[in-house]
Amino acid sequence: MHQTTIRNTVRCTGIGLHSGKQVEMVLRPAPEDTGILFALRSGSGTFFLSPKPRLVVDTGLATSLGNGHDHLAIVEHLLASVRGLGIDNIRIEVSGRELPIMDGSAASFVYLLNQAGVRRQAKARRVLAIKRDISFEHEGKFIKATPHDGFAVDFTIKFDHPLIGREQLAMEITPDAFASELAKARTFGFLREVEYLHTHGLALGGNLDNAVVLDEFGVLNTDGLRFPDEFVRHKMLDFVGDMAILGLPLYGSFEIFASGHSLNNAFLRHLEDHADEYLEERVLPLPEEAPAVAPAKAPVRRPESASGLRQPAMA
Ligand SMILES: [Zn+2]
Repeated sequence: MHQTTIRNTVRCTGIGLHSGKQVEMVLRPAPEDTGILFALRSGSGTFFLSPKPRLVVDTGLATSLGNGHDHLAIVEHLLASVRGLGIDNIRIEVSGRELPIMDGSAASFVYLLNQAGVRRQAKARRVLAIKRDISFEHEGKFIKATPHDGFAVDFTIKFDHPLIGREQLAMEITPDAFASELAKARTFGFLREVEYLHTHGLALGGNLDNAVVLDEFGVLNTDGLRFPDEFVRHKMLDFVGDMAILGLPLYGSFEIFASGHSLNNAFLRHLEDHADEYLEERVLPLPEEAPAVAPAKAPVRRPESASGLRQPAMA
């Protein structure tokens, strides 16, 4: 399988969830083996940041990356879109310290990446594959992984809320499945949390345009839900984005209960710390070069030979 990048440069602006301010983002094609590269522009220059498990500096409301100089918040929905659509190499330029929240889902990013188009590159894709079973548990939540030739997720959530309760969904994460089944699922929160955040000067850009907000009984958004099980779909989307922080695409089959950004990152750090035990790097074979096809034997009328005898039209 070939590595890919985007075909064209695309840009968008949106509101930052934390600051409530306008953020500008530009997505550019990148050479083979670049991976996902953030270029953070500020008054003092440009800082580069490649996602790595140990560069995750906050998992409170969302996943934030930092390199000691600078940081970038709410990376998971864009990372999920890049990984979900099977893009290996991309340069993401950001002015601001967070990615735009858009509508709280990955739909706008998928739209933008589709506008850019995907281009195949010459080199073969490299992945990190789970090579033996692993079970990672913390306070009743868990991530279990088994070897699998692809990226499959079986996610269960349980919330003591009349609208959520228990939701479970399993799928193979392919570009089509990501775009149609996960990308539109929005982040969600409870009204009491939103009120708390706002009184503490946090999530200033957060409102019903970029999150599903629940009170004790149901959804406050007048349009309701986009899927009956939108909550577990968003958790799965977050998982895809958080796993992209490993750097290379992760291959395996994952059974997950109630995990969030914090456990997702702890799991990645554990994988990285025990990489010899659990991971193997694989280069996915390129499709067989199409064999040189002999031209079809079309009837060819040959010129009459000097002898005047007709050659047969076909051999
Ligand atoms: Zn999310």
